[in-house]
Amino acid sequence: MAVIELTNVHKTYPPMWGPLAWGIGVLFREHRDTQPAAALRGVDLRVQRGTLLGLLGPSGSGKSTLLRIVAGLLSPSDGDVCVLGRDPLSQRGALLGQIGYVIRNGRSFYGHLSGYENLRFFAGLHGIPQPSRHHLILGLLRDLGLESVANQPQRSWSAGMTQRLAVARALLTSPSVLIMDEPTNGLDPDERSDFYGFLLDHIEQHDVTVLYATHDLNEAQFLCARIALMDRGQVVAQGNYFDVQRPARAIFKRPAPPPPASVDPGLAEYRKARFSTSDW
Ligand code: ADP
Ligand code: MG
Repeated sequence: MAVIELTNVHKTYPPMWGPLAWGIGVLFREHRDTQPAAALRGVDLRVQRGTLLGLLGPSGSGKSTLLRIVAGLLSPSDGDVCVLGRDPLSQRGALLGQIGYVIRNGRSFYGHLSGYENLRFFAGLHGIPQPSRHHLILGLLRDLGLESVANQPQRSWSAGMTQRLAVARALLTSPSVLIMDEPTNGLDPDERSDFYGFLLDHIEQHDVTVLYATHDLNEAQFLCARIALMDRGQVVAQGNYFDVQRPARAIFKRPAPPPPASVDPGLAEYRKARFSTSDW
């Protein structure tokens, strides 16, 4: 049986309206559509135990949305999701600790605490008992090449070190499912190859099932025995690298879509009138 199973999964984000959407649109220049955003459009996916499935797709193809749904952090609009035989949303408690989730977010650590102290804090939240906690953390820091900086405050760490710390945190509970959202962003080439070695060893030794999002064709070729190619919210091809290589190249070559229309159609006019350089 597959460890992760998705059947006809759809996700449509509701539109954002009013001054809030206007403000967010102006501040972040994204997610500012007034139309519902169809992020996933009928995704079927199976990931077998002990394998790494790469979700390869350009930015905006729906990778992060899919990972959040598998992790039980987001509800699908339609379709069925099953992780380790359970619904990750309604049975989240039962799956707690069995799913490790790695995203790129250095701000989810306490900058004034060292790497070791950060991991001790999160291990405490997971209820990992004191005697085994220390050895577990030291082992993870060693395996991820963070031993030498373990006692320095996390805010002094590089992006790559912080990213490895995020991986260590996800492994604290020895999860049998790992969900990784572009985990090598911010890592330099040496750190990347160390990380690949670590991950492949870890999968083999611990029989872990991994769902791994990437927008990097080379990374997918090197790391992923199986790839699901995503485009505009759909899985458009599946197989090994050579099976998806041709459609992947076509998708990645396509010019980026134009930015979404402004929430307030009058905004562009207003800006033009208000900030027109001819006034200066
Ligand atoms: P990827 O990870 O492949 O870049 P995402 O899952 O982040 O793709 O996004 C897929 C689509 O869903 C994009 O069009 C994006 O703008 C939209 N989207 C993502 N998150 C939100 C959100 N919170 N609200 C509205 N739209 C969103
Ligand atoms: Mg993403």
